[in-house]
Amino acid sequence: MVVRMRHTRAHTGNRRSHHAIKAQVLSVCECGAKRVSHRACPVCGRYKGRVVIDLLGKSQARTAKRTQLKNKRAVQEGTKSEAQK
Ligand SMILES: [Zn+2]
Repeated sequence: MVVRMRHTRAHTGNRRSHHAIKAQVLSVCECGAKRVSHRACPVCGRYKGRVVIDLLGKSQARTAKRTQLKNKRAVQEGTKSEAQK
């Protein structure tokens, strides 16, 4: 670093005075859970009193996919064990 570019400690401190992390401000959803403002609630999927995320459908789809994968694996393992015989 060139001497011309060197800052005083006060200059560095003044610049870094804005670098602190602020705590996230949370509001309470109508379902009672805490949520970030201007975001849909992760618990009930509501935004401005309206359901915008179909959380139940999502969880159902996820479990359906998991069971499908499990069945597929079981079938594959069954065919493998038969092929080894
Ligand atoms: Zn909610």
